[in-house]
Amino acid sequence: MDWTKRARRAVLNMKPYIPGKPIEQVQRELGLDRVFKLASNENPLGPSPRALERVREVLSESHRYPDDTYTSLRQALAQRLKVEPEMILLGRGSDEILLHIVQTFIEEGDRVVFSKPSFAMYDILSCLMGAQRIAVPLAGFRHDLKALADVATPETKVLFLDSPNNPTGTIITNRELESFFDKIPEGPLLVLDEAYQEFVEADDYHDGVAYVKEGRPVIVLRTFSKAYGLAGFRIGYGIADPELVRLIARVREPFNVSSLAVAAALGALEDDDFLNQVRQVVWNGKKRLYQKLNELGLFFVESQANFVLIDAGVDCREVSRRLQERGFIVRPCDIFGL
Ligand SMILES: *Cc1c(COP(=O)(O)O)cnc(C)c1O
Repeated sequence: MDWTKRARRAVLNMKPYIPGKPIEQVQRELGLDRVFKLASNENPLGPSPRALERVREVLSESHRYPDDTYTSLRQALAQRLKVEPEMILLGRGSDEILLHIVQTFIEEGDRVVFSKPSFAMYDILSCLMGAQRIAVPLAGFRHDLKALADVATPETKVLFLDSPNNPTGTIITNRELESFFDKIPEGPLLVLDEAYQEFVEADDYHDGVAYVKEGRPVIVLRTFSKAYGLAGFRIGYGIADPELVRLIARVREPFNVSSLAVAAALGALEDDDFLNQVRQVVWNGKKRLYQKLNELGLFFVESQANFVLIDAGVDCREVSRRLQERGFIVRPCDIFGL
């Protein structure tokens, strides 16, 4: 039986996500003890201790399904963001919310717009739904908002924007976003992916939640995977108009987020000291890295996130391979077409 003949065309057309190499694999393959993984933008300080404490407290209740309304966490997030709990949507990572968005809105042939390069899942998930994907090249390593506005037609279903952008770490400023809203027609849902929001130092960064409160056509995505160090738990959230939240939640399967992930997130939200410590480590680390890169005369893009895009001046796959031999897993950015 040739199963590929029976698969959906979209599945065969899709180029699957390439994750960063796991530490254990590099240890095994190269016989290394100490391996540092920099390829997945994970938290160098690990999870917050308070998050782990909370998880231990609920472990013995693991025979129960989670509370499917997820009221406690939605309330905690709502309080923090000064919105209503009905405006919060939880997902198994913000990845799952991206999936739910495309499942809610995209029929085969529908138009979807995003930047190239930007977070790989926008392309992958849109492809899976059979969408017509319009990828607009970055300009000067930043979103080309003018070009994006030009292709965002009223029929465009979804427009994905990551700010900070993955893989450059550049942001859209508040003023740029404001005028972008004025330029795009009514129709597209803007998915404003703020996965690295907690790391942003720039004071002209947008406040996505404020746009949601103003009633703009936008859903803001955040995650516990990066600054909160909970990537392994798989938990993220969206902030949007209650009606939009209810609509997208229709495609969510019951109990999509585990009770352990909820407990971890609640604990992390109580641990501002940890978050501040993480920020400081990342900010100081970037400063040191920039200094060393300047000494080496290597070009890099100044990043508002917890990763830095560097032009090593030679084949990045070779650089990646040699760094790996020394126990450093980095992301060769040829996979982004760079
Ligand atoms: C890491 C990342 C995500 C996904 O994070 P989850 O672990 O699924 O919450 C979303 N968007 C961007 C831009 C990312 O880099």
